[in-house]
Amino acid sequence: MKLDKYNKKRNFKKTKEPVGKELKSKNNRFVVQHHLASHDHYDFRLEYDGVLLSWAVPKGPSYQDKRLAVRVEDHPVTYRNFEGIIPEGEYGAGTVMLWDNGTYKMIEPFKQTLKEGYLKFELKGKKLKGIWTLVKFKEKNWLLIKEKDGIKVFDNIDELDRSVKTNRTMDEIKEEIKLTNPDKVLFKNPKVTKKDIMDYYKLVTSLMLPYVSNRYLSVVRAPNGVDKEVFFKKHFPENKYLSKKNNFYYIKDELGILSEVQMNSLEFHVGPSKIGTSPNIMVFDLDPDEKLSLKKVRECTKKLKKILNNLNLKSYLKTSGGKGYHILVPINQKVTWKSFEKIAYDIAKLMEETYPDLCTTNMSKKKREGKVFIDYFRNKKGSTSVAPYSIRARKKVSISMPIKWSELDKIKPNEITIEDAIKRLKRKNPWEDFFG
Ligand code: MN
Repeated sequence: MKLDKYNKKRNFKKTKEPVGKELKSKNNRFVVQHHLASHDHYDFRLEYDGVLLSWAVPKGPSYQDKRLAVRVEDHPVTYRNFEGIIPEGEYGAGTVMLWDNGTYKMIEPFKQTLKEGYLKFELKGKKLKGIWTLVKFKEKNWLLIKEKDGIKVFDNIDELDRSVKTNRTMDEIKEEIKLTNPDKVLFKNPKVTKKDIMDYYKLVTSLMLPYVSNRYLSVVRAPNGVDKEVFFKKHFPENKYLSKKNNFYYIKDELGILSEVQMNSLEFHVGPSKIGTSPNIMVFDLDPDEKLSLKKVRECTKKLKKILNNLNLKSYLKTSGGKGYHILVPINQKVTWKSFEKIAYDIAKLMEETYPDLCTTNMSKKKREGKVFIDYFRNKKGSTSVAPYSIRARKKVSISMPIKWSELDKIKPNEITIEDAIKRLKRKNPWEDFFG
């Protein structure tokens, strides 16, 4: 109810701001967002009672001077993570940067003083620290005042105009990704340009991110198209939109994907775990011998599904974009890498022992003749496999697309094109319940 006003003002089909939902949990966090809209201002928000109490501060907080702070509608607590663009024509259209965040301590309980229009609190942010008060003087107009406690972090607000989350400037957020060479042909027949690739990934990023974000990343780049040199890449010192931990690079948000497309990446491969957590997506890559019939490939895929069913493991199917299919298994329980790898190995071995004429776990070309190679090696720590919705850098464009189990007999592993994939986005998501 507190967020009705917030929700009414926004069209969530157009803006990426979060939909307003009141939280039950109560924390004392605060955020300040630099918001370059029709007027340049800073939004000062205090988490209180499940929402963010919000004020627009035209000149921004100051350690010296009292500043006008205009009370605006309560915002959802998740708004404290929002940084990006509000599209033209939408409410608050412009650029939003996370200027400061942290926690606060009430000096006097808000419960008693909010109604009177008086709040006193201590901020523990990166740029805002010490004791501050907000005092109402007329209707929506309040003053934001720094108490004289000797604490001061900056003289002029412009000194510190970078995001506390991404270290980007307003300009860097605004320019996001500018596509160069949009007409460059990356696939010849049928013709697919760099702009087509970018447009496709823009449509699927929100579906892709749950499987891609914060996972060890590698990509396949084709700077001059798939007919020329194509290379695999795991280190990205040149891409400031990716994050890095212990020499592992990973995608954090949409910009991670789109910036890689700008750098001519076609394929995205990710690891079985999120950075620093236990592995939670197991992959079986069914990779058939070239001469094997599609009928046999499908038969093998069904057998593996049956084995997973018998083990009470939910499994999800996608096309590989190449010769075979991929089966993904969400693992909702905390496991060590050692057990995770062992489970994948045991399942692959069980397949091999049960159906020795149909499949093998031996990757040598000779042993694979006439069989499907069950590639379980992609579950090893540090390894990656192609992400759902990724384009494949093959001669002809195709997508590694999530499909329903009932579609296995109808859809060939390499037949889904960009246009097909876009059409399929309008249907019910076959992997909707992947994460439970
Ligand atoms: Mn604003």
